[in-house]
Amino acid sequence: MNYDHFLVPPHGNISLRKDYDPGFIGHFHKKSEVAGQLEAGVKQLAAYQDILYAQNTYAVLILFQAMDAAGKDSTIKHVMSGVNPQGCQVSSFKAPSAEELDHDYLWRAMKCLPERGRIGIFNRSYYEETLVVRVHPELLEHQQLPPKFKNKQIWQQRFEQINHFEKYLVENGIVIVKFFLNISKGEQKKRFLERINRPEKNWKFSASDIQERAFWDDYMHCYEEVFNYTSTKWAPWHIIPADHKWYTRLVVADIIDHTLQSLNLTYPTVSQEHRQHLQAAKTVLEQED
Ligand code: ATP
Ligand code: MG
Repeated sequence: MNYDHFLVPPHGNISLRKDYDPGFIGHFHKKSEVAGQLEAGVKQLAAYQDILYAQNTYAVLILFQAMDAAGKDSTIKHVMSGVNPQGCQVSSFKAPSAEELDHDYLWRAMKCLPERGRIGIFNRSYYEETLVVRVHPELLEHQQLPPKFKNKQIWQQRFEQINHFEKYLVENGIVIVKFFLNISKGEQKKRFLERINRPEKNWKFSASDIQERAFWDDYMHCYEEVFNYTSTKWAPWHIIPADHKWYTRLVVADIIDHTLQSLNLTYPTVSQEHRQHLQAAKTVLEQED
């Protein structure tokens, strides 16, 4: 499938509301039509991961951003369900600790970058520094930045810093795949009510969820700016419809598969010398009684 229409072009001028429909499900009508497809995508992903690990050259950083209840956790759970846990690590970024606030904002992300051969997943990321921190200016106030840098240009500067940072990573073999799970305000309400009404889901709901929802329009504005300034040739944004979880998972798995496929991964070739060692070992084993 071709998912180019979910990509934000570099130097874009997209409008979330006009250009990206959270309820989009392609040419499908219902979940049962895609039965088996996600499983196939997950299996493919596991096969690529095995080669990625053996080759030990590239690392893959998969980053998720979204409003609450858009399905980040469950997408990660489903899409990564088949991969070898040794080759994959999930990092969740919450409000920074006192120690983290004593560093520059990329520091804590740097510490969690995947090693070569591994897949690293960021559940939220350094983009929060241009989202929640922008929507709530008091958070910036509490950051220990020199006052002369806390000016109107700070968001633009952060976009440029992030673009440079991501370019540096890509040029060092860390492939970046960025997803925004695009849920509608109506679907978020439905999922919040479900979390409130179903006892086994109560733990998922926090008072801050309803507070942040009140800032919906501000978040949408900040997200649009993020996409228009930080979708680059080397690390483009994908805006994924998120009102139907089965469609979200299918598309996310497919895009990750395509990305891995485009790396033309191969198992390391074995040297003549190593092959001779293998032969010698085989002879020894076969001679055992
Ligand atoms: P879920 O609600 O599905 O469990 P979550 O990612 O929303 O997952 P929470 O613990 O509810 O996890 O929220 C994390 C909070 O931390 C979010 O509101 C997010 O905006 C906030 N956060 C993340 N990074 C920063 C940051 N750099 N500065 C301030 N707040 C941040
Ligand atoms: Mg939350």
